[in-house]
Amino acid sequence: ERVLVPRGWKKKPVVLLFTVCRPGFFKASPHSPSCSKCPPHSYTLDEASTSCLCEEHYFRRESDPPTMACTRPPSAPRSAISNVNETSVFLEWIPPADTGGRKDVSYYIACKKCNSHSGLCEACGGHVRYLPQQTGLKNTSVMMVDLLAHTNYTFEIEAVNGVSDQNPGARQFVSVNVTTNQAAPSPVSSVKKGKITKNSISLSWQEPDRPNGIILEYEIKYFEKDQETSYTIIKSKETMITADGLKPGSAYVFQIRARTAAGYGGFSRRFEFETSPVSVAASSDQSQIPIIVVSVTVGVILLAVVIGFLLSGRRCGYSKAKQDPEEEKMHFHNGHIKLPGVRTYIDPHTYEDPNQAVHEFAKEIEASCITIERVIGAGEFGEVCSGRLKLQGKREFPVAIKTLKVGYTEKQRRDFLGEASIMGQFDHPNIIHLEGVVTKSKPVMIVTEYMENGSLDTFLKKNDGQFTVIQLVGMLRGIASGMKYLSDMGYVHRDLAARNILINSNLVCKVSDFGLSRVLEDDPEAAYTTRGGKIPIRWTAPEAIAFRKFTSASDVWSYGIVMWEVMSYGERPYWEMTNQDVIKAVEEGYRLPSPMDCPAALYQLMLDCWQKDRNSRPKFDEIVSMLDKLIRNPSSLKTLVNASSRVSNLLVEHSPVGSGAYRSVGEWLEAIKMGRYTEIFMENGYSSMDAVAQVTLEDLRRLGVTLVGHQKKIMNSLQEMKVQLVNGMVPL
Ligand code: AMP
Repeated sequence: ERVLVPRGWKKKPVVLLFTVCRPGFFKASPHSPSCSKCPPHSYTLDEASTSCLCEEHYFRRESDPPTMACTRPPSAPRSAISNVNETSVFLEWIPPADTGGRKDVSYYIACKKCNSHSGLCEACGGHVRYLPQQTGLKNTSVMMVDLLAHTNYTFEIEAVNGVSDQNPGARQFVSVNVTTNQAAPSPVSSVKKGKITKNSISLSWQEPDRPNGIILEYEIKYFEKDQETSYTIIKSKETMITADGLKPGSAYVFQIRARTAAGYGGFSRRFEFETSPVSVAASSDQSQIPIIVVSVTVGVILLAVVIGFLLSGRRCGYSKAKQDPEEEKMHFHNGHIKLPGVRTYIDPHTYEDPNQAVHEFAKEIEASCITIERVIGAGEFGEVCSGRLKLQGKREFPVAIKTLKVGYTEKQRRDFLGEASIMGQFDHPNIIHLEGVVTKSKPVMIVTEYMENGSLDTFLKKNDGQFTVIQLVGMLRGIASGMKYLSDMGYVHRDLAARNILINSNLVCKVSDFGLSRVLEDDPEAAYTTRGGKIPIRWTAPEAIAFRKFTSASDVWSYGIVMWEVMSYGERPYWEMTNQDVIKAVEEGYRLPSPMDCPAALYQLMLDCWQKDRNSRPKFDEIVSMLDKLIRNPSSLKTLVNASSRVSNLLVEHSPVGSGAYRSVGEWLEAIKMGRYTEIFMENGYSSMDAVAQVTLEDLRRLGVTLVGHQKKIMNSLQEMKVQLVNGMVPL
């Protein structure tokens, strides 16, 4: 600072009037006594500056004080993951590595719809809804709903802050490509009346705006106005019907809904039409096929479900004998009664001719449409290759091709194609998708979607420690969702393991390896049990090993092992223990310890999957909801399993029910993970193990133990202790 002395003041130059700032310093107000250094990322080249200029690529908002550093737009968000559920997409990401020096970072979602043939993309338009919103997102997640079915979308997640709009440079975003799945058709919106007589009303309507697939049939529900409790349902493959047998001069209400492979869409709004009072000759519509009449009468609910058919206007009878064989095939599908809207898995074994099953569930592809590129793996029946499939009118896309080696036996061919017959029945984003089969030429092939990252166990081992917990949970969520679908279809996998999960370039996991009896035979992990079966011991529930009780609940046990494999980046369950030692340890109540750095909530879920009592294990839909909750609330994943309670080279004793004497009620409840009830027990007089031994289910309810799972845990533990007491094992 220099002191400037005006002329004529030479004699008494004592008053400091003002200072002039040097370059690199500034003074916002001339009245300020001193200069300030330019804040970070700003400078001045001149003297006496009142503010500093921002360096290149740095900016200042009008509202930013001059003492604040210049800032820049944030870098792109990181590690975006997606979860697709029918026509909804959930996106989650990690904040940008560089916030640009500002605290006001928010996110913007750009949505593009891409044509799968041309690859061209366009803005999504107004039909997409964003929850909670599209712009100004403060949290690192968003949900898009009302997307179109079977459509490719690209979402760009851009991080913005207070100076992003001043940046002429490129936008910083991370993009995620997803393909939506099937969805039920949208409601029929326009219904027109046709010919009306005194006993009949003819209707016609238009296909829903968004059929989301091929419409298999329409369901028309109608009833006399104000008599809703007694209604009739007609099914029709055409977009018109005639309802007959109606009362003259009466108003009738009609509602229509469409069905595709994805199930029924919503009913249309109500349309009201009136029969004519005058006598007009009735007409019959040949296209109508009424097949179900449901009648619900007031007071007594009389549910008369008549499964049968009416051939072109002829009402069907009640008995199977009256059915036309053609129609019987449609509804008594190969001996399985197929109820509309309920999809169940059909075991290809139930087909006398396995070729019929393959052709029912898998499309035949011409070998000339397939280009094989390289060998990527070895299956039991031959090589697995990657390649490309070019179907007529579609863009070429990558596929995996499983081949059947030459010199196969008829049984090998049947078993090989059995996998396609099973896979072809599934349509879910977390189940490997079958493109089709080649059976008319050799080699016989199964063509599926291509999963760039191969099998999950190998992929995780290769990328040890590389993913965020949210990414790992996203993988687990996908697997659980696929398994929920399979269990809903009534399919039990029996060989769920990370080696049988495939993962694509978007880190979407899909369940694969479907087979008939061979499932377990081609798995190198499967070992012969004393009962002669071949079972992958480390992944299999005790009841399935002991007496071959394979159910969705035993798949849940295996899912718990897959969770453990994922959280430990592909470590081998039970390490180098022998199969016999594994069986023994599990029977004795020992369980795998928590993987390193594993969130406590996830390890608890694993332990729940490994409950000895299969009915106490969670169901796949509960697992999906629990993982969704954890993904939505990532802070719930911050509590890790306590390092000191993690036993790295030993198995942990799981719910050591009855395995020793408990010194106190608290110790017992803690041991069975019901410690939260200790206080209630003590306060209500159950302060000794003797007193506890008398507890009944009624008492538990009275104490406020209302969760059935907890009631079961406590009662089972008591039961077990009592049994052991009788045997003189537990001195209470
Ligand atoms: P599998 O006979 O199904 O066990 O397949 C053998 C191996 O081939 C797997 O472990 C994968 O590495 C690979 N593979 C199988 N199917 C696919 C696919 N759809 N995409 C990519 N790799 C696959």
